[in-house]
Amino acid sequence: MPTCAVVMKFGGTSMEDAAAIRRMAAIVADRAAERPVVVVSAMAKVTDQLAELAQAALKGDQETAGGLLAGLRERHLATLAQLAGDGETAAAIEHLLGELGDLVRGIAAVGELTGRTQDAVMSFGERLSPLLARVALRQAGVRAQPVDARQVIVTDEQFTHARPLYAESQRQVEERLMPLLADGATPLLGGFLAGTRQGVGTTLGRGGSDFSAAILGALLGAQRIEIWTDVDGMLTADPRVCPGARRIKAISFQEAAELAYFGAKVLHPATLLPAMHSGVPVWVLNSRAWLPGPPDGARTGTRIATRAPRTQAPFKCISCKRRIVVVDVVSTRMLQAHGFLKAIWDVFAEQRCPVDMVSTSEVSVSLTIADTRALPEIADALGKFADVRCEGRKAILCLVGENLRDTPGLAGQVFAALGELNVRMISQGASEINIGMVVDDDDVPEAMRRLHERFFSDLDAAVFA
Ligand code: ASP
Ligand code: MG
Repeated sequence: MPTCAVVMKFGGTSMEDAAAIRRMAAIVADRAAERPVVVVSAMAKVTDQLAELAQAALKGDQETAGGLLAGLRERHLATLAQLAGDGETAAAIEHLLGELGDLVRGIAAVGELTGRTQDAVMSFGERLSPLLARVALRQAGVRAQPVDARQVIVTDEQFTHARPLYAESQRQVEERLMPLLADGATPLLGGFLAGTRQGVGTTLGRGGSDFSAAILGALLGAQRIEIWTDVDGMLTADPRVCPGARRIKAISFQEAAELAYFGAKVLHPATLLPAMHSGVPVWVLNSRAWLPGPPDGARTGTRIATRAPRTQAPFKCISCKRRIVVVDVVSTRMLQAHGFLKAIWDVFAEQRCPVDMVSTSEVSVSLTIADTRALPEIADALGKFADVRCEGRKAILCLVGENLRDTPGLAGQVFAALGELNVRMISQGASEINIGMVVDDDDVPEAMRRLHERFFSDLDAAVFA
């Protein structure tokens, strides 16, 4: 049985122009002996433009739609020209854009945009980018073989955020990828794309290419998954706020999931699940600063695995989620009445508004939301049974680390480090590996610096670069 040792995923910034695409090809060529499977995102910003295009079509705004289509065509063809690509690839790009043009006209004519059609529009970024990737890979001596991801990753029918069906996908992997690997070819797939059992295209949700890579890595039984991006890996803090931020060499899945959830934009949180369940380590690596040879952490990247080495430091990193709103729900009438929490949750569920952090007392509940679009409706609905107060310009600071579990007194140390800075809410997650705090958004830089200084000054070389 041919074994693929590594699934390599290149994000939008690693595919943004001809230079980036050439770098991607060089990195894949370096891994050739490991029989890689390559997953590429759309070129940077293309998916946003496709979303805009769908909206413009829906509104019948032909000028905007035409401009976006022309821009996409121009960018892909210019990049192909810079890669000295062949006429056949140019024709394939033109063909896809023709198909997209038809679809856009259809949306405009019908004046309706279902999830299914939205996914069809969004698919073009990841259908175009493998065409460019293939040219550069072949030039780098890699026999890349494009495979339609919509036929490999099988999902349910929740368009725009479909969930994978693993057993079906496994069969497709065996049928469509294994023979290519056996033949010495390098399967090349667009990320983010999948398809239903009936073969209708779906997508895995924005940022979903990481998820594609993790699904494939798990199904192929790969030894590792590499997520190539434009940062050096996961850092102890945002370097724009804490200039002293350090690279984390190794972190556990659990820790990484908390971070992904609380604002660290490096990874899509759901990404980690298939990799975590099958124990395949995930590396986050910088395609702009790559070094030949397998990743080893000493030099680059962050390794995310089931177990991370123990450290002296209580925390691995600090992340923050800025510009959030705290909603206080107070009801003395509901004192000791059951169903109060349920009534509150129903309101948020009804409005499809995710809640990030919660703290409760007998008569009040405080929770935080990042997406404020439905706030007026939420306040209205809550107002029917409670007093509601909303406070904006807040931020969640989150300290993450597995040592938290068995280090007593850490919360006290955190408050001491914050000094007079006001902490509005606090919660220690059930996972017992994070402490979350709500502070004023304006205080974030100062709070981050104080915490970083206090907890990340003297670090273990085994875990931190
Ligand atoms: N291109 C898709 C997006 O921007 C998927 C991805 O890049 O992961 O959401
Ligand atoms: Mg991306």
